Amino acid sequence: MAIDLKDKMILSSPALREYILETSAYPNEHQQLKEIRDATVDKYKHMSIMNASADEAQFLSLLLKLINAKNTLEIGVFTGYSLLTTALALPDDGKVIAFDPDREAYEVGLPYIKKAGVEHKIDFVQGPAMPFLNDMITNGKEGIFDFAFVDADKENYIKYHEPLLKLVKVGGVIAYDNTLWFGSVAFDPNDEIFKNDPAMKLIKQIGYEEIRHLNGFLANDPRIESTLLSVGDGLTLCRRKY
Ligand code: SAM
Ligand code: CA
Repeated sequence: MAIDLKDKMILSSPALREYILETSAYPNEHQQLKEIRDATVDKYKHMSIMNASADEAQFLSLLLKLINAKNTLEIGVFTGYSLLTTALALPDDGKVIAFDPDREAYEVGLPYIKKAGVEHKIDFVQGPAMPFLNDMITNGKEGIFDFAFVDADKENYIKYHEPLLKLVKVGGVIAYDNTLWFGSVAFDPNDEIFKNDPAMKLIKQIGYEEIRHLNGFLANDPRIESTLLSVGDGLTLCRRKY
């Protein structure tokens, strides 16, 4: 039986989760976002949980509009749910540069991105993000981005922090997704939960230590003001101070 990671989210009451989705998120979800969500479930089954939830995406969309984001970065696209959310939230002359080695997954969402009429706001770059981030710094792109959404290889989040602090402007925002890592971060590495709960055992093997380290690091980084929000699977917002 597939492990249902939804039950590991901070909002572990299924009734409340349904309530938020049905009352607030789904009624306002763009038709093509819904179509990406459905197409992802069809193709990737339980792995479709990798898409941001509709309520988290609704929050991201609002945030992008509140900060008047025009130029943004996305690390980790998968089928493009958060990417389409971003493209829809940007002004018509806005741009999101999005990195992912997996073009096949991106192409699952691409027809819906085209149908939504926002493909012109997206530069999809196939490949791991880090070399491109370093190239952008070398090519003088420092301080030009309003926002960066990091939702890729959890083990390397902390390595993205230094280049992103250069690429995002002072006052800009870096958002790290899944920083509650399905609730695992609350537990000490020796906690019984990692022996008794098969899902937790799995989660501990990928990214647990690194996300715990990242959370401590971000909370103490004087160059940013940050908050770990309990939306989705945890979303840490960092505002660059200087
Ligand atoms: N942001 C997407 C959304 O909410 O719909 C989901 C992204 S999914 C959780 C993580 C993605 O990160 C995968 O598609 C994977 O291929 C990608 N990824 C893994 N390593 C990466 C890297 N080094 N650079 C960029 N993307 C990477
Ligand atoms: Ca995520």
